[in-house]
Amino acid sequence: MAAGLLGAAGLRVFACDRSREVYDKPRAMALDHEIMRIFQQLGVADRIAPWTAPFGTSAHHGADGRVIRRIDMVPPPYPLGWIPNLVFSQPPVEAALREQVASLPTVEIALGSALERLTQHDDRVDLAVRGDDGAARTVTARWVIGCDGASSTVRALTGMALDDLGFDEPWLVVDVLMNARGLAKTADGQPADLRARAGRVPW
Ligand SMILES: Cc1cc2nc3c(=O)[nH]c(=O)nc-3n(C[C@H](O)[C@H](O)[C@H](O)COP(=O)(O)OP(=O)(O)OC[C@H]3O[C@@H](n4cnc5c(N)ncnc54)[C@H](O)[C@@H]3O)c2cc1C
Repeated sequence: MAAGLLGAAGLRVFACDRSREVYDKPRAMALDHEIMRIFQQLGVADRIAPWTAPFGTSAHHGADGRVIRRIDMVPPPYPLGWIPNLVFSQPPVEAALREQVASLPTVEIALGSALERLTQHDDRVDLAVRGDDGAARTVTARWVIGCDGASSTVRALTGMALDDLGFDEPWLVVDVLMNARGLAKTADGQPADLRARAGRVPW
């Protein structure tokens, strides 16, 4: 997203990722209308919309089966034009984003290339990048943005501290495809399977 927005604004951008493919399992599962607006700004909203579905009414139950809270959306008309809360499938959305960003002439994408070192000077930063073929290169930039995940190399190299908020609970996420009997027991009785909805989003 950062490479796409900066590249679309006319800045020269170098973006590297040590992985050649997007990670094939979804982790993030929800986004909102403001994110859809940014996808729209990048010109990729139409390719992403089929991989989203409205975030239906959900009910959270405690261990004793009682409802702890319900989450619902504001009714239409929607304030930003898009459905306010959406679930999405992360791998195809990331793939669509990558494809769009790669088409920008201002952005150079280096996949299979890991950042190894940063050397900060008064007027620039030198990045030591190594490809998965072993080839090393140095890239010079005025600014570096670390979008390299929870084990961020950029954070480690720049000595930034991690602020741990101390949420440390054992938990298990279970994704299921529901049959009609199971669906009838959910808060809104609507399927959550994105594949079932692809091409049938209501806008
Ligand atoms: C099990 C699980 C469940 C989750 N559930 C949810 C959820 O329900 N809702 C939600 O909103 N979020 C959820 N998350 C969190 C969500 O997945 C992350 O917040 C989001 O994917 C982080 O995006 P990111 O781009 O910051 O990092 P990542 O998706 O981790 O991407 C980092 C990228 O940096 C690259 N990289 C790393 N180091 C280097 C380097 N040295 N050089 C070059 N490239 C490098 C990696 O290859 C990777 O492509 C979950 C996460 C997990 C693990």
